[in-house]
Amino acid sequence: MPAVTADPLTLPRLPEVAAQGVVWRPVLQVITAQRTFEGEGFPVRRPFPQGDWSLTDPFLLLDQMGAVDYGPGEAKGTSWHPHRGFETVTYMIDGVMQHRDSTGGGGVITNGATQWMTAGGGILHIERPPEWLVAKGGLFHGVQLWVNLPRADKLVPARYQDIEADAVHLYTSPDAGAIVRLVAGDLAGNRGVGVTHTPITYAHATISPGHRLALPWPEDFNALIYSLAGRGFVGPQRTSLDDGQMAVLGAGHAFEIMAAEDQPSTAPSGWEVLLLGGRPLHEPVAAYGPFVMNTKAEIAQAVDDFQSGRMGRIPAS
Ligand code: MN
Repeated sequence: MPAVTADPLTLPRLPEVAAQGVVWRPVLQVITAQRTFEGEGFPVRRPFPQGDWSLTDPFLLLDQMGAVDYGPGEAKGTSWHPHRGFETVTYMIDGVMQHRDSTGGGGVITNGATQWMTAGGGILHIERPPEWLVAKGGLFHGVQLWVNLPRADKLVPARYQDIEADAVHLYTSPDAGAIVRLVAGDLAGNRGVGVTHTPITYAHATISPGHRLALPWPEDFNALIYSLAGRGFVGPQRTSLDDGQMAVLGAGHAFEIMAAEDQPSTAPSGWEVLLLGGRPLHEPVAAYGPFVMNTKAEIAQAVDDFQSGRMGRIPAS
């Protein structure tokens, strides 16, 4: 797992969580990701949505893409498709994702970089491994998160933010037993890169076997811990969390997680977890495929706008 890495001893240390009077966030629920296929048939593990939107508000969807080791000619992506009403955040851990969109923009996301796309009022895009990767094959592992936009911002102009791998802020825990990559938002008073419409924190941590990571977390944020690879324990009850499982945490000031002593071969550097939180919007969700609005009428309008070309058109290649 290359992502972005460093010797933890060289990294700034996150503060200890003061134990006095702290309410540790409890585990409310453990959700096992559904295995499915997306786009033209690439494998994803999807911890949510699995029903109740309010459980993960302001997040709408999380897809772990791979990890998959493609043979020559096997790698797949998506065809052209629209989005409206939310933001897609694509974080590539291994391999390369190429994208093009209806504004004529495009580029590649690779090895630890993040692309933050605010679809807002609408955009068409295509996301796929580049031709050379398809021809050659190779490792492909990334995560796509959908962050809802508040009602007032659903139709803002589409916007991209490319967060290159060297812009990701790295931290370690007080005992230097973890690497924490701040992909977006703020963490323990540290400001991350990326401008978000909805306040969130998005981090990828690698925790050495047997080590603990405790972090203060804004009280008005939800808190989700997703195991990308390996296993560990979450919360004061030490609830076990395996590869492909997500813990939904309840209210409190901070959370604590611990990597198991023994890790599978898929987690050679330690437990790989995503740490996700955001301020819930508490607004109605009307979702239809790639459109997420507040009402059914707005979804009908989105379909009409897409079909009439008002979200943009596929550029000539
Ligand atoms: Mn898309």
